[in-house]
Amino acid sequence: MGASVPGRASTNEAGIECDVVVVGAGFGGLYALHRMREIGLAVRGIEAAPDVGGTWYWNRYPGARCDVPSLFYSYSWSPELRREWRWTNRYAGQEEILNYARFAADRLDLRRLIQFDTRVAGATFDEPTARWVVETDRGDRLRARFVIMATGGLSVPNTPDIPGVADFAGEIYHTARWPQEPVDFEGKRVGIIGTGSSGVQAIPMIAKAARQLVVFQRTPNFSVPAHNRPLTDEDHRGFDDGLDSYLSSLEQSDFGRVPPTAFTAEVPPRDVQWARYEQLWREGGSGGFLKAFPNILVHPDVNEVCADFVRQKIRETVKDPKTAETLSPSGYPFGVKRLCVDTDYFDTYNRPNVELVNLREEPIEKITANAVDTAARHFDLDALVFATGFDAVTGALLAVDIRGREGATLKDAWSEGPRTYLGLTVAGFPNLFTITGPGSPSVIGNVITNCEYHVDWIAECLTHMRRHDLATIEPDGEAQIAWGRHVAEVADRTLFPKANSWYLGVNIPGKPRVFMPYIGEGYRTTCKEIVADGYRGFRFGGSTRALGEAGK
Ligand SMILES: Cc1cc2nc3c(=O)[nH]c(=O)nc-3n(C[C@H](O)[C@H](O)[C@H](O)COP(=O)(O)OP(=O)(O)OC[C@H]3O[C@@H](n4cnc5c(N)ncnc54)[C@H](O)[C@@H]3O)c2cc1C
Repeated sequence: MGASVPGRASTNEAGIECDVVVVGAGFGGLYALHRMREIGLAVRGIEAAPDVGGTWYWNRYPGARCDVPSLFYSYSWSPELRREWRWTNRYAGQEEILNYARFAADRLDLRRLIQFDTRVAGATFDEPTARWVVETDRGDRLRARFVIMATGGLSVPNTPDIPGVADFAGEIYHTARWPQEPVDFEGKRVGIIGTGSSGVQAIPMIAKAARQLVVFQRTPNFSVPAHNRPLTDEDHRGFDDGLDSYLSSLEQSDFGRVPPTAFTAEVPPRDVQWARYEQLWREGGSGGFLKAFPNILVHPDVNEVCADFVRQKIRETVKDPKTAETLSPSGYPFGVKRLCVDTDYFDTYNRPNVELVNLREEPIEKITANAVDTAARHFDLDALVFATGFDAVTGALLAVDIRGREGATLKDAWSEGPRTYLGLTVAGFPNLFTITGPGSPSVIGNVITNCEYHVDWIAECLTHMRRHDLATIEPDGEAQIAWGRHVAEVADRTLFPKANSWYLGVNIPGKPRVFMPYIGEGYRTTCKEIVADGYRGFRFGGSTRALGEAGK
């Protein structure tokens, strides 16, 4: 390892040679590039977009913003970046977050390591040389000891296959592939399909611009107010004062949504719960709700009080009782689908130019050149917006033709659902790492922090391998099975599997119904213990010297 100049790849007739290929230049990929270079490896980044930022490059729809407070939705590892960047709002908008990613890439001088506008199409493990051969849609060929898939848990948009969609002659958009140039909805009749996190953010903004907005809703979602506002000097001072304890809490944090006390905690009296939710509703944000009581995501009775509370708020806000009823989630627990955080979402349905269509009563039958036809009605539209989410967690990994030992494909290995060890590695696919992969906290909680943890873990692992002259690492099949069982058992003890969420892949036809994130606490402790125990469950192979790399 460590061929050529640290951080720099070299090129010869056979293609580009490097130690590590990092796929994706979102927050995960950017940090991976920085860390790999920092530990002296020759690293190359490949990114499908023309710029850095990942999620925040692609999701430019009106209203797009983070729902983890900006002061925390930032890199925690760099004091310099923290000092030099000042967030303006409690929840930053897409443009500001994209600018932050650009700032980080420039400040860390990462752009020259990245090949933009290039998609990785395939990666094949060459057993005799223990190297990955990575191929792109531009015909590049890279050979690398390691591949880090920082391809994002929410980066492959899902567009449902509705009959006639290709015939629509008006403007058509997906929230996750929003155009660079501003979209003008003024005077237009707009339809939007989907009321998950993106729809809930976009609907109030589009409603203000459009002549008419028709919202096609299949499943109503729980949403809590953001109460977004500009950050004050006092907010910044408060954050700085608490920084040390925040950083050490991260160090000790075990991620996860469900604390160990969840299973033994008492059921608090209903009025105590209600008062707490009133306070949280006034404060805004999702974090408080999801932690309001240790057993809120485990105990059906506790959960139901919170669900009732949100339904009550919807009834109080939405003037038309039938619309309020249609917007009220029921039949699944609170907080076990991604909890939406909104600005004026429910109030938007009081506007005269907004109409809610309940697809459970009148499903869409077809889309025509200028309309959407449901089973009951016909809606003439000038523009149609898909806010229909993603092929989450596994989508971007399976979109690449990844072939491990003996040519086995990742697609086959995961045909019955993803199988990983720690959400970081896959048996039979040596030296391949997945940032926020399935079986890790992945898309739960603060995803930047999740990415950072994985990158640091990989950096430590590769340093260990170099120190001990080890050529390959891969998990044991048995360890992987045990981890998968544990991930499922933890999920099964909670209310999470009781909702048809994208965490389970049910939004994608044919995708196996498997709960993908790891939601228990203890993730970081487990990862640390495994390392301390000599990388328990991993198998190291070969020596780089035996592969003819002595002296490099
Ligand atoms: C609208 C929206 C709001 C969100 N808000 C929050 C929030 O408030 N808090 C939070 O914690 N998380 C949030 N998330 C999750 C968000 O995805 C993560 O926080 C984070 O940005 C993920 O970073 P990443 O680097 O892992 O992946 P991404 O940002 O998705 O980056 C992956 C990159 O890989 C590239 N790529 C994928 N496949 C290939 C390939 N084959 N070849 C080349 N390039 C490829 C993509 O183009 C993309 O740029 C949100 C997601 C969305 C969609």
